[in-house]
Amino acid sequence: MTTLTTDRVIIVGAGLGALYAALKLAPRPVLVISPETLGIGASSAWAQGGVAAAMSKTDSPEAHALDTMTAGAGTVDPAIARMVTAEAQAHIFGLTDLGTPFDRDAQGGYVMSREAAHSKPRVVRVKGDQAGREIMQALIGAVRETASVQIAEGVLASGIEVEDGAAVGVWLEAADRPSTRILLRAPAILLAGGAALAACSR
Ligand SMILES: Cc1cc2nc3c(=O)[nH]c(=O)nc-3n(C[C@H](O)[C@H](O)[C@H](O)COP(=O)(O)OP(=O)(O)OC[C@H]3O[C@@H](n4cnc5c(N)ncnc54)[C@H](O)[C@@H]3O)c2cc1C
Repeated sequence: MTTLTTDRVIIVGAGLGALYAALKLAPRPVLVISPETLGIGASSAWAQGGVAAAMSKTDSPEAHALDTMTAGAGTVDPAIARMVTAEAQAHIFGLTDLGTPFDRDAQGGYVMSREAAHSKPRVVRVKGDQAGREIMQALIGAVRETASVQIAEGVLASGIEVEDGAAVGVWLEAADRPSTRILLRAPAILLAGGAALAACSR
């Protein structure tokens, strides 16, 4: 068994959540674990509709949270809904600063569409239905230029090492060679493997 130790935060996954977290943690050194080349294998790149955020003067995070809770019909944690809707606008501006070419109107405002259970138009889009792909391209460009972000492509997390109830490391293997399994110990681990986080064997 090979055991290595890193001072970096290990981020498992390479979708929108993982790459955005890697940038937010900068300049703290992180190691992003991606089973494939960045941009491939993450459902983030397939998202089409856009991102919901209360961006207009006639809208508010409170109204967005209320719509979210109504649509969730008892399954939504109100505190989480309020936190996410309150922060949404700032993250749209943040993604814009990172280079995401959100659709704009003639005055430069964000083009917003109304969808599903939203009572206001509040879904910002990119090139119509290219939101996921374009946001991922912006994030991939940014992480590749960020010195604190190290990326391990072609690597799969196959388990979490736990000692005294705390996660202390991640079992890693080459995506195409499971026999190369190693344990990488780290001060912190962020799981951002999406809904399809491959099952861990340990
Ligand atoms: C077709 C489609 C359309 C969608 N449209 C919209 C939309 O219009 N608006 C919207 O807001 N949302 C939409 N979504 C949902 C949205 O895409 C997701 O909620 C979001 O992208 C999830 O991001 P994520 O970073 O959490 O996960 P993902 O983007 O799924 O990334 C997960 C990452 O973890 C990696 N991973 C998994 N297991 C392991 C492992 N064991 N070891 C290492 N890495 C691992 C994967 O390879 C991937 O890189 C859509 C989703 C789909 C599939």
